[in-house]
Amino acid sequence: MSATILVVEDEPGIQELLKFNLGQQGHAVRVAGDADEAMNSLRGELPDLILLDWMLPGVAGVDLARRLRGDSRTKDIPIIMLTARAEERDKVLGLETGADDYITKPFDYKELSARVRSLLSKKIASAELAKKEKTQALDQMVDEVSHEVRNPLVSIGGFARRVAKNMAVDDPNRPYMEIILKNVVTLERMVNELIELKGASVAFQEPIDLHDLIRTTIDQFAEDIHARNVTVHLELMENPPRIAADRQNFGRALFNLFENSLEAMTGPERKLAVATEVTRDDFFVIRISDSGCGIGQDKIKNIYDPFFTSKTYGPGLGLTFVFRTVQNHNGMITVESKEGQGTTFTIRLPIRAGR
Ligand code: CA
Repeated sequence: MSATILVVEDEPGIQELLKFNLGQQGHAVRVAGDADEAMNSLRGELPDLILLDWMLPGVAGVDLARRLRGDSRTKDIPIIMLTARAEERDKVLGLETGADDYITKPFDYKELSARVRSLLSKKIASAELAKKEKTQALDQMVDEVSHEVRNPLVSIGGFARRVAKNMAVDDPNRPYMEIILKNVVTLERMVNELIELKGASVAFQEPIDLHDLIRTTIDQFAEDIHARNVTVHLELMENPPRIAADRQNFGRALFNLFENSLEAMTGPERKLAVATEVTRDDFFVIRISDSGCGIGQDKIKNIYDPFFTSKTYGPGLGLTFVFRTVQNHNGMITVESKEGQGTTFTIRLPIRAGR
């Protein structure tokens, strides 16, 4: 298990030793000499764990720990306090410092690495559990919504359309009726998406030609592509392997991605590119890039969440469906985006399963 560890320690000798020992266990180590440097370092990519010296020049380690616990961005990073004396150790234990563990100097490196390993695996386990619970909660919600909302919605929609059809063109209530119908359509779409999302996990997989699926899915947007003046670049590899996939679900996932990309392209440059390749480690890769308005870095990590909304994508379940579908194909999806420049979704699917 290799992780990124931030060491906050002012003594150069201890910094070096920690860096060396943790580095030998395969961890990437970042070093900060005081609280300010630590805060600077935490502005970038977050570490998986922090080793924090109790006695720091300026802001004390214990105050920094409290500050990190109070910040939603850093509150879940495990912290091990490094203490020099027994009284400090007692304070770590007795006070609400926010530290998860402590270790007394001089360190026994075996002990230190055991503590680090234990905290890291706890962190991974709790993240996985949280994800699983979230998924289960969503599945339950899908069931409830599809039962409790669908039926009344069918009658509301049905009768509203019937009333609207028989309404005179100059009926004063017509504008209100149109608002009702517009909202009925929104709700119907949401319920359908929820039901589809449930279907993402019930898959019938057979070896298929994904290039064919990519082309036919893009063809469904032919009118839209023309109307929006979008150029489409297909850079598809020759002789692609057949991949085990559920045609309907995977097609729907591609549809959602293309739909998002097209909607994101509101600026003068409108290019949608789809490229495929096979990697050395036997993955079939599909890369979908648009020159759209992009997604902010603060939002990108929540992009697959149900009903997530950004300026570009959502609100809805479109990307949640994509994520679930790729997962159910034992694949991975990653996204890179620059605001104002565009977004690239990369799907990696294992090839072997299809052979
Ligand atoms: Ca110190």
